[in-house]
Amino acid sequence: MTDRAVILIVDDEISNIEIMSAALEDEYEVCFATSGEEALTVAQTVLPDLVLLDVLMPGIDGYEVCKRLKKERMLADIPVIFTTGLNDQDAEVRGLSAGAIDYVTKPIQPVILRARVANHIELKSLRDQLAQMAVTDALTGLSNRRHLEQTLAQETAKLAHSGEWLSVIMVDIDFFKRFNDTFGHPAGDRCLAMVAAALTRAIHLATDLAARYGGEEFVCVLPGRDHEAAVQVAKEIQEQVSSLRIPHPESTVSPCVTVSIGVASACCLPDTSPSQWIAYADRQLYLSKRAGRNEIFSTVFSAQEISFSTE
Ligand code: GH3
Ligand code: MG
Ligand code: MG
Repeated sequence: MTDRAVILIVDDEISNIEIMSAALEDEYEVCFATSGEEALTVAQTVLPDLVLLDVLMPGIDGYEVCKRLKKERMLADIPVIFTTGLNDQDAEVRGLSAGAIDYVTKPIQPVILRARVANHIELKSLRDQLAQMAVTDALTGLSNRRHLEQTLAQETAKLAHSGEWLSVIMVDIDFFKRFNDTFGHPAGDRCLAMVAAALTRAIHLATDLAARYGGEEFVCVLPGRDHEAAVQVAKEIQEQVSSLRIPHPESTVSPCVTVSIGVASACCLPDTSPSQWIAYADRQLYLSKRAGRNEIFSTVFSAQEISFSTE
């Protein structure tokens, strides 16, 4: 594995690839393709950080390659720089409107190529960081509420095709206000980060998502998991949190930090909204609190019928 950015060079003339490779290989991982078709396949496989794309090629030309890259969700954000011998404005405009970010003309001048590539790689890295920040909760590193709601909507729609199960777990730290009052806000922040880490240890599958819903409330989305499986995860969350052994002298339920949990499971229907999932899980969380805290309550619901069961 390497941290170096990956550049895909696409050109039907090997000598051009060699010139560009020589200019870039000290700083970047370089891979190449000699046709538009090959470029699309290689891009899918290696997910490059930037593409240097020849305009004139037999078969699919550079404009078409660029358009197809921009249509693929996984590839659309990769910056494309056109390389061409055509030094005319129309070609430039056409390239930029196909989605290219920049343009370099042949014969390639290594110094200029390196400078432009470096600029765009840096911009892409900043864009990636911003995109990451937009979906992350800064204190805990978990997904934020917006990302949670997007994921819940996407997963529900996906699983509704086959009527598969999905479960939502809502977790709330018990007597957290008293914890802050006892130890101060910075200690409260550290406690939140530790509970968040415990949550991620309790969910196992790559498809599960753990998010900070707000304050001291967390939500896990478990696509494909039925009620029984979700309750198991909820128990694991409680065990992980209690094994942290964070002292909480003002809690009346335990000498250490505990969480109350609400679980909602259903076979997905296309019109189940994120707010419905949350409402069902939140109702169970409320029952856990009312039962004295450090409890798990769970429900299986459907559009027609709601049943409550207790764990
Ligand atoms: P309950 O057992 O009923 O959930 O009681 P609680 O005290 O945990 O719940 P309440 O909603 O009364 O208080 C939540 C507290 O969480 C109050 C607020 O100061 C604290 N809190 C919310 N966000 C943060 C945060 O980012 N950092 C810290 N340190 N505290 C936070
Ligand atoms: Mg609380
Ligand atoms: Mg709360």
